[in-house]
Amino acid sequence: MAVRRILITGGAGFIGSALVRLIITATPDSVMVADKLTYAGNLDSLSPVSTHRRYAFRRLDICDGPALRQTLEDYRPDCIMHLAAESHVDRSIDGPADFIRTNIDGTYRLLEAARRYWQSLDAPQQGRFRLHHISTDEVYGDLADTGGLFSETTPYAPSSPYSASKAASDHLVRAWHRTYGLPVLITNCSNNYGPYQFPEKLIPLVILNALAGKPLPVYGDGMQIRDWLYVEDHARALYQVVVSGKIGETYNIGGGNERKNIEVAQTLCALLDELAPRPIGVTSYSDRIAFVADRPGHDRRYAIDAGKIQRELGWQPEETFDSGLRKTVQWYLSHEAWWRRVQDGSYYSGERLGLAR
Ligand code: NAD
Repeated sequence: MAVRRILITGGAGFIGSALVRLIITATPDSVMVADKLTYAGNLDSLSPVSTHRRYAFRRLDICDGPALRQTLEDYRPDCIMHLAAESHVDRSIDGPADFIRTNIDGTYRLLEAARRYWQSLDAPQQGRFRLHHISTDEVYGDLADTGGLFSETTPYAPSSPYSASKAASDHLVRAWHRTYGLPVLITNCSNNYGPYQFPEKLIPLVILNALAGKPLPVYGDGMQIRDWLYVEDHARALYQVVVSGKIGETYNIGGGNERKNIEVAQTLCALLDELAPRPIGVTSYSDRIAFVADRPGHDRRYAIDAGKIQRELGWQPEETFDSGLRKTVQWYLSHEAWWRRVQDGSYYSGERLGLAR
């Protein structure tokens, strides 16, 4: 196939920016990032590719239907990869409204804009077009300690406002395929970690709190199990799906790395003890681990069966949990300027664009 033009919603976020960096540096395709630049959008994360001639950026709220339609008309993409979302479970518990708005209403507006655009294309262009919706394994709910794995046919049973809003968006995407024939692909992925992750999430939070000598918060008893995937492996999987995935299909993506949260915190502390040792006589970073009140509705275990994408599309993660975690710690140690700007608020891209927060 010829070189693609890919519109990426949410491309200034953690996973979106990894995907954009991958596409610009490792493929011949062009990218337009369409992003509202909420607190989670960070143009610093796109600076490695932002001057590239195949890269473009447009500030866009996916809930703004007319602006979406105009963007599709202007850019004329072959593919849309939809990552824009409110993504942090704790924020969804404190204030679900933004999650309902962006994740559900925004996805609906994107589907409608995409449908009109797709219907206006000629037959060869229609045949090339696809909309890839990026979702989460949290839609499947809690595996408890059953030993089972989430497959593509596991019934949906979301627990939090975040996962419920993502489940709703998945249903809408499937309905637009079944009802209107819109060529869609869906992926549901496990917990990501890696470079450029906003430090409200567990792994960067533990690293940066440890370096600052602060307590390292772990929810409840720390026995919640997550299946961790290095973000660059996720980005490669997403690109593989948009290029080779079968229209209408869902693919689960996971690293096969089930770890208890407490183990993750302890492993990070051991890596920091090695890579950023504290002064002689001062105890290990792990002494700062502090159990805090559990999150309401906290699922105990998520774990993905990624067999389908491995068998059908030949995708495999390149990083083990140990190699990916080591790379992540090294990245945070060598990119202090990036996280300092997040911590002091100066990263906030909207202000750089002259916009109110
Ligand atoms: P993120 O919070 O880091 O980034 C979200 C991006 O979407 C930000 O750039 C933000 O500015 C943008 N955005 C938010 N609302 C918008 C709106 N109304 N219009 C346009 N842009 C908007 O999220 P992430 O961790 O990179 O996750 C990306 C996607 O992957 C999400 O859909 C999420 O549900 C899914 N996902 C995440 C994980 C994970 O572990 N982080 C795992 C599986 C799936």
